[in-house]
Amino acid sequence: MAKISPTKTKMREQPPQERIKNFQEVPYGYSEEEAILEAQRCLQCPKPTCITGCPVEIDIPGFIGFIAKGDFPGAIRRLKEKNVLPAICGRVCPQEEQCEKLCILGKKLQPVGIGRLERFAADWEAAHGVPELPQRKRRTGKRIAVVGAGPAGLTVAGDLIQMGHEVTLFEALHEAGGVLVYGIPEFRLPKLIVGREVENLCKMGVKLVKNFVVGTTKTVDELLEEFNAVFLGTGAGLPWFMQLPGENLNGVYSANEYLTRVNLMKAYLFPQYDTPIQKGKRVATIGGGNVAMDSARTALRLGADYSMIIYRRSRVEMPARNEEIHHAEEEGVEFHFLTNPVGYYSDANGWVKEAECIKMRLGEPDSSGRRRPIPIERSNFRIPVDTVVVAIGNSPNPLVPSTTPGLETGRHGNIVTDELTGKTSKKGVFAGGDVATGAATVISAMGAGRKAARAIDEYVRTGKW
Ligand SMILES: Cc1cc2nc3c(=O)[nH]c(=O)nc-3n(C[C@H](O)[C@H](O)[C@H](O)COP(=O)(O)OP(=O)(O)OC[C@H]3O[C@@H](n4cnc5c(N)ncnc54)[C@H](O)[C@@H]3O)c2cc1C
Ligand code: SF4
Repeated sequence: MAKISPTKTKMREQPPQERIKNFQEVPYGYSEEEAILEAQRCLQCPKPTCITGCPVEIDIPGFIGFIAKGDFPGAIRRLKEKNVLPAICGRVCPQEEQCEKLCILGKKLQPVGIGRLERFAADWEAAHGVPELPQRKRRTGKRIAVVGAGPAGLTVAGDLIQMGHEVTLFEALHEAGGVLVYGIPEFRLPKLIVGREVENLCKMGVKLVKNFVVGTTKTVDELLEEFNAVFLGTGAGLPWFMQLPGENLNGVYSANEYLTRVNLMKAYLFPQYDTPIQKGKRVATIGGGNVAMDSARTALRLGADYSMIIYRRSRVEMPARNEEIHHAEEEGVEFHFLTNPVGYYSDANGWVKEAECIKMRLGEPDSSGRRRPIPIERSNFRIPVDTVVVAIGNSPNPLVPSTTPGLETGRHGNIVTDELTGKTSKKGVFAGGDVATGAATVISAMGAGRKAARAIDEYVRTGKW
């Protein structure tokens, strides 16, 4: 047997100094030869530990084995048995915390690049002809309303349509995809890819109704009069602020608003689009997750001279994916660790001009398991800024629960569900994804969607709640 390379086959990408001037995707993806080379690193373990790390249980050695043989259609077919959105997951899933973390090779060498191979197979299919659409079972005549076209809603819709039901997908915005289109920037997940997956669902028979806000256009109770069941996949789109003095100044955004203006309102396509957005020269992003990395890297691409991350803990505790932190560092984002803002100051016209911060130290671990940040007294200092992006978290929007009697919610406004089925406290209504868990990941939203689809199928066939 050939000696296994200790490192993953390198994926070529745009050089940092070039890519900060455009919004094109950073990595180029594998060529066929590179993919085969990487696939040949897989040991084809008889008891593959990697699969236990995948929330949707993809047959990882199975699809990788096809790539190793050069059978790319076989690889994508195997992948799609468990994952309807492989081009998306291959790009944004935290594989280093999931399948790749459990890959046996990782004990001594770098794990197999499972995510890169998943992306390769999906892109290969897109570049080589018409994607194979799964067969639909015999029509059941049952009608299901899916509310919210993010990863949870798209998964539920895809699974239920294959099971033979009629599915209508209601989306509040003018584009389907949820965070995949309005949050995650083009340089990490091109909109074309999400558009392709949504189009496939529509070809399979899902009826997509855009600009339809459930809770305003129609209530859940009204949908229940027309449909046999309702799935709520409305996400966690309500941004948190720190309630600091000056947070309402001009130039202070929530990451949600900032990224929506760039993505959905197309500021990333300037100068073709003249989107109203502050293209700051000194931009401070508050937070340490993927959303913060996306915002700080977006600011560079909009022309910032300094894009800073202000984070209250240290690099070790940052929740963002390693790859995102690494890319941000390469691009010149400045990191201010153990630092927290305490207020903002304005110029004479009400625009933010300074962030006042305080230094922090780390104490004992808190309920999140990470060491608790503690302010250091009299360590305040000011940083000149002209734009601030607050990226400290989100919770579900209260619109649907507040217009749906009998729908139980939890402490942060999340809809309470049964974890195995997605059943809510209201008969006929299911929920899953960020609206149930709070802000999480694409794959966990898809996993919740899959479970809910099975439970909805059983409910509409048997009528048993
Ligand atoms: C900037 C950013 C970067 C991220 N990066 C990553 C990453 O790299 N990897 C990862 O795994 N996860 C990442 N995440 C998290 C991930 O995107 C979410 O966990 C995931 O999208 C949740 O899916 P969802 O379907 O539950 O909700 P969403 O994607 O939020 O979709 C909900 C949909 O419901 C619609 N909706 C809301 N209310 C209504 C209503 N009343 N009527 C009709 N429609 C409604 C919304 O418009 C939206 O389209 C990121 C999140 C953000 C914000
Ligand atoms: S654990 Fe790693 S080496 Fe083993 S089958 Fe999975 S990907 Fe291949």
